[in-house]
Amino acid sequence: MRQSKLFVKTRREAPKDEVSKNAQLLIRAGYVHKEMAGVYSYLPLGRRVLQKVEQIIREEMDAIGGQEIRMATLHPSEPWKQTGAWDGVDVLFKINSRTEKEYALGQSEEEIVTPIAGQYVTSYKDLPVAIYQIGQKYRDELRAKSGIMRGREFGMKDMYSFHATQEDFDRFYAVVKGAYLNVYKRMGLVAKVTEASGGSFSEKISYEFEVLTDAGEDVIFYCENCDFCVEDEIAKVKPGEACPRCSVGVLKEAKSVEVGNVFDLGQKYPKAFNFTYKAEDGTDHHPIVGCFGIGTTRLMGTIVEVFADEKGIVWPESVAPFRVHLIEIANDNEDVKKEAAELYRELNEAGVEVLWDDRDARAGEKFADSELMGIPLRVVVSEKTLAAGKFECVHRASGKTEHKSITELIGHLTA
Ligand code: ATP
Ligand code: MG
Repeated sequence: MRQSKLFVKTRREAPKDEVSKNAQLLIRAGYVHKEMAGVYSYLPLGRRVLQKVEQIIREEMDAIGGQEIRMATLHPSEPWKQTGAWDGVDVLFKINSRTEKEYALGQSEEEIVTPIAGQYVTSYKDLPVAIYQIGQKYRDELRAKSGIMRGREFGMKDMYSFHATQEDFDRFYAVVKGAYLNVYKRMGLVAKVTEASGGSFSEKISYEFEVLTDAGEDVIFYCENCDFCVEDEIAKVKPGEACPRCSVGVLKEAKSVEVGNVFDLGQKYPKAFNFTYKAEDGTDHHPIVGCFGIGTTRLMGTIVEVFADEKGIVWPESVAPFRVHLIEIANDNEDVKKEAAELYRELNEAGVEVLWDDRDARAGEKFADSELMGIPLRVVVSEKTLAAGKFECVHRASGKTEHKSITELIGHLTA
């Protein structure tokens, strides 16, 4: 894409009311546009990043047999009343219609997915099944101060699984845990798995996936030696104590953000909707339901928080809006312009996503914008690189500079 055609521009200052680093940088670099506290629009670059985050999650969910659907987000009030959540869930947005009907905006989709599954799952032979979607959620959050990490409208992948037995849920939980850890790893993140209480959903245990960052709202205690990790609120242990699991490591305290979770919902929802299946012996049973969430927009914000430096955003390659930021420093030199156009053409032909800064702007401004935007590899074409026969390639994350010919560069990017 040509940067001169990009309708969005970078800006020097973030809005005064944004306190979080992720929102400040994403707004300044032109990835998102703030509509109000907790609600953002995703602009061309932001949409590209979010789509990559979603695609990684989609691939991992498909790989474990998840079936993608898209559920309504404008909900009838009846199923919410049927489960008691109409009055029980404080973050639920309720809408009055001029027809005197009431609606809810989806904050989670148990009330919608359970009747859908119940219509098709009638026999033990139909189990287990895992259904997921990637879409918008709406919550009347009291505080929305963490930028895109806590929205009133936000993106989530939510998967719901249905099982004949508790053992089968436990088996599937382990499978999903592996897929979740893959998701985070592919984005360059390390997530710790905590045990926490199930909150309003159920009395049963739940698991949360936490990434360490000072921008997070949670506090966890974790072992520096093994994978023991708990949320502070429920914890029977304290930082500084020996780890109760391995007894070798010492427990540390850290701030973290919840980037995913798992709830064992038991039979609550199938009971509420009278959803049963026939077992092999002909008797009727309610399936056991699991709910598995990942915050897609929160993940995008977390990536900004974890990797950004004083110059701006630093995207891991897997979610970057473009792989290469081609910076043309032409100063009216037609040969430089031609060379940049040729490199742009060849990179596109090789399937490399490239943003070409072909704007008529000063070198300093182009470099500052490039650092703010955080595209992994900056490739400079100037009179100097033309004379040398090699482009200057600067890695955004490490600052490492290399000089490569067009063949070497394409070889490196397509290896
Ligand atoms: P939190 O404790 O942070 O409010 P939650 O327990 O309410 O999260 P769930 O209802 O299970 O979270 O939602 C699944 C996932 O969606 C969470 O793990 C998180 O990554 C993301 N998420 C939840 N609320 C928000 C929000 N307001 N804005 C952005 N992402 C969110
Ligand atoms: Mg919440």
